[in-house]
Parts: sequence; C-alpha cells; structure tokens
Amino acid sequence: MYQVSLQALFKGWMGELGTDISQKLFLNSKEYHCFNNALVKGSLKETQIDHIIVSKYGLFVVETKNKSGLIFGGAKESHWTQVLSNKKVRFQNPLHQNFLHTKSLADFLEIDHSKIHSVVIFWGGKFKNKMPQNVIKWQEYTGYIKSKKMILLTDDEVDRICSQLKNLKDETSFLSGIRHAKSLQDRYSSTSICPKCGGKLVERIAHKGQKADVKFLGCKNFPRCRYTKELK
Ligand SMILES: [Zn+2]
Repeated sequence: MYQVSLQALFKGWMGELGTDISQKLFLNSKEYHCFNNALVKGSLKETQIDHIIVSKYGLFVVETKNKSGLIFGGAKESHWTQVLSNKKVRFQNPLHQNFLHTKSLADFLEIDHSKIHSVVIFWGGKFKNKMPQNVIKWQEYTGYIKSKKMILLTDDEVDRICSQLKNLKDETSFLSGIRHAKSLQDRYSSTSICPKCGGKLVERIAHKGQKADVKFLGCKNFPRCRYTKELK
C-alpha cells in the first residue's frame, strides 16, 4: 500500500508539479538543476523533452514511460513489447526516442553528445529480461543519477547551460502564447468555419428585429450553436 501511494506521489511531483520538488527531496538542488518539458530544436526536428537535469556530472535527459504489465525489450530493437493479461502492445524503443532528444539537445547547447546521459524511467510494469543499465524503475531514479560521479562540465559550463535552458523556457512559453492568440484570431476571422463549434458558416437573412433583411453569417448547427458574424 505504502509503495503504491508513494509511487503516485512521485508521479505527481514529476508530472504535474515538475521535478523541482522531487529534486529538493532527493537531489541536492545546488548540484542538480532541473528543467521540464523543454521544446528543443537541434539540427533534427523539434522535440519535446520531459526532463533535463543539469549537473557537473553531465546532463541527464529523462524520458518517462507509464506502462503496466510485463515489458520486453533490448537496446538495439526498434520496438519493445508490453504484455498485458489479454493483449500485447508494441511501442517504439524509448532509448531510440531519447537518442533523438539527446542529439537535439547536444546540437542546441553546442556540447559534446557524450556529456549527456540518456535515462528512461518506467512507472509500474515489470521487466521480463535484463534491461539496459540506463532503463530503470522509478525507485532507482535518484540512485542512478547519483551513481554518475565523473565530472564532465565546469561550473561555468553548468551556469551557461542553465541560463540557455531558462531562456528557452521563457521563449517557449512566449511563443506558445503568441501561437495561441494567433490561432484564436484566425478562428474568429474565418468566414467559412464557426469558431465556437467548428461547424460550417452559412449566409442567413434576419427576418425580424432591428436588423431585419440584413444578411449575416450563422452557424449551420443552429439552434445548437448560436454563433453569428456580421457580413461586411
Ligand atoms: Zn457553431
């Protein structure tokens, strides 16, 4: 029971509140700096990285997987398998997925790829065979990070990387804010699609009231949707 609730808590910290809290509990926050949900564009396509931990022991790029059942997989296989009581589900090898993340991050930060550790964390699930050493259960997470003791980055480099990731985070939220505003604007300026429900807009004529005989655009889903727009 205790295990289950602790796991749920841990997932909460990692998922919603971010790693900062788990970091304070498990890792020294002066030594390990955490960044969540970074949108990184390297020479490859843009990728979203769940968690990045920056330390003088290198960077840790953490991919989290939420899977129950038995998990089969090897470092070199393109797909892994999740075996549930009634079915088998194939999924992309998370190490391959995370390789793209580490590559993009190395490009973006202009650091050597060898200074980045790839870590895949599984919530729940049991491993059928011996997993690659960087594929771990959530219970082993802190221990794994702390086991890396070779110094790979200077304090200055750590500072530089942290401020780059901090800027990236500010920029990402700024850009996504703009994108959101832009898409709302696009939606409301459309003369063919209803911005409220996505239905078709059709020309109608008011039959009564102040605007009798005036043409306007109305949603085809009227009366379920009462969106109207003036026709210029
Ligand atoms: Zn509508």
